[in-house]
Amino acid sequence: MNTTPAVQVRDLHKHYGAKRAVDGLDLTVEAGEVFAVLGPNGAGKTTTIEILEGYRDRDSGDVTVLGVDPRKADRAWRSRVGIVLQSADDQAELTVRELVRHVARFYPSPRDPDELVEAVGLTAKAGTRVRQLSGGQRRRLDVALGIVGRPELLFLDEPTTGFDPEARRSFWDLLRGLRDDGTTILLTTHYLDEAEQLADRVAVVRDGRVVALDAPRALGGRATHEALVRWHEAGEVREVRTPTPTALVADLVRRFAPGEVTALEVLRPTLEDVYLEMVGERTSRASTAQATTDTPAPADLEESVR
Ligand code: ATP
Repeated sequence: MNTTPAVQVRDLHKHYGAKRAVDGLDLTVEAGEVFAVLGPNGAGKTTTIEILEGYRDRDSGDVTVLGVDPRKADRAWRSRVGIVLQSADDQAELTVRELVRHVARFYPSPRDPDELVEAVGLTAKAGTRVRQLSGGQRRRLDVALGIVGRPELLFLDEPTTGFDPEARRSFWDLLRGLRDDGTTILLTTHYLDEAEQLADRVAVVRDGRVVALDAPRALGGRATHEALVRWHEAGEVREVRTPTPTALVADLVRRFAPGEVTALEVLRPTLEDVYLEMVGERTSRASTAQATTDTPAPADLEESVR
């Protein structure tokens, strides 16, 4: 098993004039994982990715990608790294199939172009000129070009922007297949469901540095956060915030038996809640909800109610 991290970044800095776009960023992406970078507009995600890809110079910091400093990257390194560039227009007169076949020739051991066109859902467009594709179709073609060389590490900067929901789901399946084949994937996204569905770990970047790093289900203490239990009783909505929702629900079940606890819900902060809290947009629903004060809990619930 390969235990060398695919990406290692220590104390990375990049300034544009007075603007500190990247300001002391640390990051380690293990080989074989899907790693998502989240952050608001201007947080420094693209700048960081482009430094890792070798397309942008850094001011300071240590960076290795597949064991190599991208500043010193050579052709052999490039063939191991998949980069999804923003759509280039210079090949717009080729058809989808022609372009994938053309790019495949640059790699020592490329994927089968026709199979790849099918895998990204473009078989029906294989004979269409690139300039005639829709935005979402063009993005899928970009991804096909990024993976045609069987990269060990794939960089994806906002890969599903402009996809319809069905295309996004089939693209996620494609990425899961790549991960199962051992490809390391580093992606940036503004879609929290995308990070939640795909990523083994998520880094939240704000003002050029990582402010949180964890598995999506645990980010910001989500998994252990107090839960909000809500139900309807006597024509009113009742809400109780508790660290032990199971005990509260068990008490409710006993009290309402053999009937239903009407409109019972157990809510924890969503990834969106904790993310928005971290980037300073708002406080989370379940963490700010107050237990209703005008509906005192029944005696048999008192131990569970805070
Ligand atoms: P988004 O989510 O909007 O793509 P991002 O997190 O990728 O944002 P970057 O594109 O890395 O952010 O930009 C970080 C900061 O650096 C922003 O304030 C941006 O305006 C600035 N910046 C980026 N590229 C340049 C440049 N070439 N010259 C000057 N400033 C730049």
